[in-house]
Amino acid sequence: MSLDKKQCSICYYTIKPSQMKTLVCNHSFHMKCVWNWLVISNVCPLCRIEVSKYPEYGCEHNEYIHYINAIINKNKCKI
Ligand SMILES: [Zn+2]
Ligand SMILES: [Zn+2]
Repeated sequence: MSLDKKQCSICYYTIKPSQMKTLVCNHSFHMKCVWNWLVISNVCPLCRIEVSKYPEYGCEHNEYIHYINAIINKNKCKI
């Protein structure tokens, strides 16, 4: 478990570091998997924390802002 290999709980494939997105709750997924998930459900797939309550956490991640905008503007934003 100390290795940097992590498994995505959405698709169950290994997450490469370059593909990894860690949420505020410290759960990690593929970026694409978690963006697609969050646009629909707005909560972490594992612990169900409401990630949109923590927009400041994503300041360094354009993708996160992109997803927040997608939620706010509903379907205006195309990922
Ligand atoms: Zn995945
Ligand atoms: Zn979580």
